[in-house]
Amino acid sequence: MKVLVVGNGGREHALAWKLLQSPQVEQCFCTPGNGGTALLEKCENLPYAVDDFANIADYVQKKNIDFVVVGPEVPLAKGITDYLQRYNIKVFGPTQAGAQIESSKSWAKKLMADAGIAIAQGETFTDAEAAKAYITQQGAPIVVKADNLAAGKGVIVAQTVEEAKAAVDELMTTGFDLIVVEEYLQGEEVSILALTDGKTVRPLLPAQDHKRIGEGDTGPNTGGMGAYAPAPIATPELLERVQREILEPTVTGLRQQGINYCGVLYAGLMVTPEGDPKVLEYNCRFGDPETQAVLPLLETPLDELLMACIEGRLEAFPPLQWYDGSAVCVVAASDGYPGSYETGKVITGITEAETLGSTVFQAGTKLEGDRLLTDGGRVLGVTSMGKDFNQAIETVYGCIETIDFPGKYYRRDIGHRVR
Ligand code: AMP
Repeated sequence: MKVLVVGNGGREHALAWKLLQSPQVEQCFCTPGNGGTALLEKCENLPYAVDDFANIADYVQKKNIDFVVVGPEVPLAKGITDYLQRYNIKVFGPTQAGAQIESSKSWAKKLMADAGIAIAQGETFTDAEAAKAYITQQGAPIVVKADNLAAGKGVIVAQTVEEAKAAVDELMTTGFDLIVVEEYLQGEEVSILALTDGKTVRPLLPAQDHKRIGEGDTGPNTGGMGAYAPAPIATPELLERVQREILEPTVTGLRQQGINYCGVLYAGLMVTPEGDPKVLEYNCRFGDPETQAVLPLLETPLDELLMACIEGRLEAFPPLQWYDGSAVCVVAASDGYPGSYETGKVITGITEAETLGSTVFQAGTKLEGDRLLTDGGRVLGVTSMGKDFNQAIETVYGCIETIDFPGKYYRRDIGHRVR
């Protein structure tokens, strides 16, 4: 079997790595991939950008690639799945209509409200003054969000009414003409990445990530500085409720809209102090870095699972098998991220880190000759497994120490909630 993974992050490296563990997968392609996928055995990087649908379709057909897995949300929201399906190419990832669950927060909120799913109550606005009047009426804390994709920068959790109103102006003057203002939810967050074929939905192990740049979960938001799984807050009872009250009604709601959703439904949940799960947001793809913590624990061959989704056979698919223990992923970033940072720094020590008991998933890297260079904000993610979180955390920090590049920054408190 040959598989093409679309994207160039740590998530895509983890997907390619896991797919290649299956004896049936003889070759993997990544487009455009990164330094890590370039070095992965039986994996080849292609030069096509994630939205170069025509060249991707052409290559898949020429090479008889069996199926395509789409990593990032942007090509999904632009309709890569619809495009490839017109050429009878098998794709794991929702159509443009399905991807609206992430690309339009107002659309997703309506779908969930109609399905009776617990969400943060809120309203959608095109007019700044109306949004501000609503904020005055509701009071703070309150949350202001850009309706459409904003690369993680479209959510402002405002502690005061003034801050919320400023966020409305900020978003509306930077090109977001539709915004959502919603109730602030208290509690602990958990990510449930569930796979669906449009009828049946199966969650992967629950994960938690650390979004803030600074230790103690402080400072600006990032794409994610670390993650771990399985998150103990998601007890079997909570997962049962998430399945029944959130995931299944979502798939039913999508079907009622005529959407046969094949791909990941990634529910970002808040578990309230009362213990109730409420949806903060849905993403239409694997989470990054959560995927880097969850996939190493998966024992079921990933290609078989994704094909069962693509072919609508998920209901009959055997229960997912997981390795015992816990996994922790720590991200090493370029100093300055999520602000400006330098690239082109030489990275060393990855082999040593892997010898000491980790898997290194590369993100912002590139291979130049035989030198591995930094090429982005989040440079790589180091994942270790252990019999419990303490062991995994101890191992992962031992491993990340051996990796070196000028300006390396990482948080030393990943997993502090589960230590
Ligand atoms: P989102 O992209 O919608 O997940 O928002 C990014 C982050 O903002 C979430 O992971 C939460 O930490 C926070 N957030 C979003 N919506 C809310 C809300 N209604 N109440 C509290 N925090 C929120």
